[in-house]
Order: sequence, then C-alpha cells, then structure tokens
Amino acid sequence: MKNKVLIIGIDGGTWDVLNLLFDNGVMPALSDLVKSSTVGVLKSTEPPITPAAWTSFYTGLPADVHGIRGFRILQKNSKGHFEYKLVNNENIGYKSIWSFLSDRGKKICLINLPLSYPPPAVNGIVVSGFPIPSQQVCYTYPKGLKKEILKKIQGFEILTIGRHSWSGNIERFVDKMVISSRTTALLGKYLLQKDSWDLFMLYFQETDLIQHPLWFCLDPTHESFTKERFNIVSKFYNALDEQINMLLQEARNIGNTRIIFLSDHGFQKCRYCINLNTWLYRNGYLQLRKNVQAELLRIFRKGLNRIPLIKRIKNARTLRSHFKDAFVSNVFFEKVLNYKKSLGFFETNGTNIAYFHTLGNIEANSLVFQKLRDLKGLDNKPAVKNISLLEQHNNYYIYKMELYP
Ligand SMILES: [Zn+2]
Repeated sequence: MKNKVLIIGIDGGTWDVLNLLFDNGVMPALSDLVKSSTVGVLKSTEPPITPAAWTSFYTGLPADVHGIRGFRILQKNSKGHFEYKLVNNENIGYKSIWSFLSDRGKKICLINLPLSYPPPAVNGIVVSGFPIPSQQVCYTYPKGLKKEILKKIQGFEILTIGRHSWSGNIERFVDKMVISSRTTALLGKYLLQKDSWDLFMLYFQETDLIQHPLWFCLDPTHESFTKERFNIVSKFYNALDEQINMLLQEARNIGNTRIIFLSDHGFQKCRYCINLNTWLYRNGYLQLRKNVQAELLRIFRKGLNRIPLIKRIKNARTLRSHFKDAFVSNVFFEKVLNYKKSLGFFETNGTNIAYFHTLGNIEANSLVFQKLRDLKGLDNKPAVKNISLLEQHNNYYIYKMELYP
C-alpha cells in the first residue's frame, strides 16, 4: 500500500499535443509513464478555464457550485453596482483537499498551484501560484520559506502577473519558458528532499503560457504550422520532460509514492469569436451611462462601434488583437453600464461558456434569448447551443449560455 501521493499538474495538457510530442520522441519520460499507467481523457469543467478547473479539483465541486468562472470574479459594491476583481485563494468559499488532509494530520506541500495566493496555512508548506501581484509580497507559508528558497534555488523568480507575456519572438519565448519551468522543478526537487510529506502537489503553468501564442507551431492542421516551428517549440517540451523525469526519479527514490499526473483543460484552434456585450449594445439591450467621465465613455463608445461583432481568428497575432477588442467590450463595461436602462450584461471568460446577468425586466429576457438563439457564426450555423437559468437572486438572475465551440 502506497501512502504518499505526488501530483504533477500541467496547464492545458491536451492529448492532441502530448501524443504528437510522444510520437516525435520529444517527451520520452512522460511517454514511458503513460505507457505504464492507467490513463484517460478527463472532461474539463464548464467553463473549461484554469481557475474554474483547478478549483474543482481542489474542492470536488463543479464551477456552477463553487462560482469561480474565470480569472476575474464579479462582486457587487456598496452602490449595488458590479465590479470585477482578480480572483485568488480568498474567493474559494469551500474546503480544499489540503485543508481536509491538514485537519487529519497529513503533511502537505503545494508548489505554484493556481489560486493558492495568498498562501493558505496548512500542515506543511506552500509556495503560491497565480495570481501573485509582485515579487515583494509574501507568497510562501510559512513566511520564512521565501527567503530560504530565494537563497537555495539559483535564479528562482516567482511567476507574477504578466511576467511572461508573449514578446513576438518564438526562440526567445521558448528559452524563457525553459528557464521558468526549470526553476520550478528545481524548487520541487529541493522541497521533495527537505521534509517528509504525505501529499506533494506541483504545477507547471508554462505549457499554457506557450500554447496560447504559439498554438500554430503545435497544431499540424493550422495554416501557419511548419515542421521548423514545431521543432523550435519542441525544445521547451523536451526540457519539461527532463524536469518531470527528475521529479519522478526523486519520488521513486523516496519510495512508497503514488504518482498522479493531470491537467485542467484542453486546447484547440479558435475559429472565430463573438463579442456578446457589443451584441447587446447594438441591439439596444445594454445602455451606457451619461455621467461617467467623458474620456472613458468616448473610448468605450468608439470601441463598441469599431469592434466587429463576430471576428475570424486566423493566427496568434489576430488573437491578440481580439483580446484587445474583448478588453474594451468586457472589462471596463461595468464602469460605464447604465443599470437602470440595461436589460443585462454578459460575464465572459474567453471560453464557450458565458453568463448573462439580468438587470431589468425579467420577462423581457426571453426576447433577448430568442434573438441570441438566432445568432449565426461565420460558418452560418447557430452560435448558441443552450441557455439555462443558473442562479436566482432576489432582484436578478444569472443565466448560463453555452456556445458551439
Ligand atoms: Zn489552464
């Protein structure tokens, strides 16, 4: 009976990419582990996005229950208006696996896990993961551990928000990802040896950071895919495989350890996007306030009038410009929303699941939903798959809308 558990997580570890890398001999250690293990395709959460999926893994609850639906969480301020806040560990309102085990006297070690900042007090140690606001904050539990790891792990720098944004150069970006994942793995090795533990969890975010801008290098069906590009990006996966192997060897040396390797969601080419709040605005269901700062309103109106409602996504560069559009239509809108005159607004997270928050006459929503069901994508097929009531509050409802992927 093995009574220790090592869990290694990678972000966005789709079999489509892993199998291609295995077939090309890029990840021999992971490929061997897969061959000698029980494996399967897991269904991700709805929405299939990092914070929702890891929270489900920590708590055992679906996103509809734990309420973490994206990187931002909507909260009502004292005026009753909505505000977005970056999500973190304090927003997980349910008990996590590490709390259950800590309570039973098990020793825990968590490294880099999404939404583990601020670091929770566990029976063991924590080095927090996304979203860490700066290098200066305390991201470890206990507090003194930060100083120790900065001294022991050469070149270690915690992954802070936006530190590894895409710079436009494939080779340089790949090199950065190699260094980042290597220091995480070295930290893992150090902490595996340092103390006794019952549950050890470590997560690599770099797979997700690399696949977002460089998907066209990994998907042979992508129009911009070339073998040369694939080989450059493979260097990262090859280095990651060495790092995973180092951790697996360490766990095997310790012995008595069950190994779980998992991921949170898949990845695929994005064909087109729909700006749902722009759709509401153009149909008159979302109105802007008149008394907000003129400058903000001007930028916003210009954005909403300029943004194509439906946009084809061709490659990473247009995806970036899409995010700029989405930024205008989704992020700031809560500051300029006319609460009295709008029927509602969409909370979106860049996936195929969006949430409609009602503000006005609830009966009028059926008209909005009927029009949404008629909405066509660029392939001229219906864009909306399903709309269902998710939450019913005193004076407003939240509907969950699923789009065709
Ligand atoms: Zn993810």
